[in-house]
Amino acid sequence: MAVLFKFDTAVLALVAWLSIRWLKARYGHVAAVGDDRTGTNRPTASSDEDEIIHGAEKIPVSVNYHFTRKCNKQCGFCFHTEKSSYVASARYMKEAMRMLKDAGMRKINFAGGEPFLYPEQLAMLCEFCKADLGLESVSIITNGTKVTEHWLQDNHKYVDILGVSCDSFDEDTNVAIGRGTGNNVAQLFKIRDWCAKYNIKFKLNTVVCSLNWHQDMAQMVTELKPFRWKCFQVLLVESENTARELYAQQHRRLRNGRKFLITDEQYQAFCSRHDHVPGFIAESNEVMASSYLILDEYFCFLDKGGPQVKQSPSIMRVGVQKALASINWDRKAFQRRGGIYDWSKGPASTLCDSELPPELEF
Ligand code: SF4
Repeated sequence: MAVLFKFDTAVLALVAWLSIRWLKARYGHVAAVGDDRTGTNRPTASSDEDEIIHGAEKIPVSVNYHFTRKCNKQCGFCFHTEKSSYVASARYMKEAMRMLKDAGMRKINFAGGEPFLYPEQLAMLCEFCKADLGLESVSIITNGTKVTEHWLQDNHKYVDILGVSCDSFDEDTNVAIGRGTGNNVAQLFKIRDWCAKYNIKFKLNTVVCSLNWHQDMAQMVTELKPFRWKCFQVLLVESENTARELYAQQHRRLRNGRKFLITDEQYQAFCSRHDHVPGFIAESNEVMASSYLILDEYFCFLDKGGPQVKQSPSIMRVGVQKALASINWDRKAFQRRGGIYDWSKGPASTLCDSELPPELEF
């Protein structure tokens, strides 16, 4: 009798354990959303995983939509060059954003090219994603040259994060890279002040390359107080920035990124010089290559992690899941690089992230 009782108890315990595992796999992501936003109870690695891998489906939690490839700059290492001048209609853009939201998207980042070359489309996208779809985070990455106070005044309530590219505080270096204007630094400070005024989180992105790896940007970045400062190692992407020098000189679109390459040691030297700066985040090209979900101007996902860029069919044609299934998205690298963080706008006083829960930082 005692043996039977023990057997029953063991079976019941096994059934309970399996049920809990099933429930966690099925609904675990719901808890993770709340935990992550408040930062009060950080999701474990496995609950993060639940959030991104929902059963057999991939959940596109955070998407980078490069709605234009057009840019007013000519950075020599650019890996999303002007292959086409296509910009989708507002109707298609909205439909695609809604499909991604339905598939689980929580954050959208509008990138390019230069998104501020299309201020009206950009405003429409931000408003639609924030006000209509209710996304947690709407973000923009820009080279800063076309950002105006007028645009931010009109649209600030739909923008959580404004990220600006800044590779150097030395204008000669910026000119040599291909993004110099002579007033990059003055414009950066203006944008920082507008972001503070309109309660938008201000972020900086730097590509560490052969022309800036030895520079010291710490003092200026500390003054600018970005809530995150991402420092990427320059990356070669086939058919974007791997042209030979002669071709690169003859064809406006083609780039020769090789001359900007640095060794891992040089990248590490730059990181060690700056890792004390608040908000600093290092992103080597090993982490970066496949960890971003890139949606191009035709609503195809791009996988830039291999020797050749892979392009999925358009989500408008096959749906989000089929498109995602056809590319390699390194979800572990997405998590390792801190892909989920405190990405909604907060009160103006949180512009510097010293108050962010440390577990939400990279
Ligand atoms: S890297 Fe330079 S050229 Fe490429 S999109 Fe950004 S600002 Fe434009």
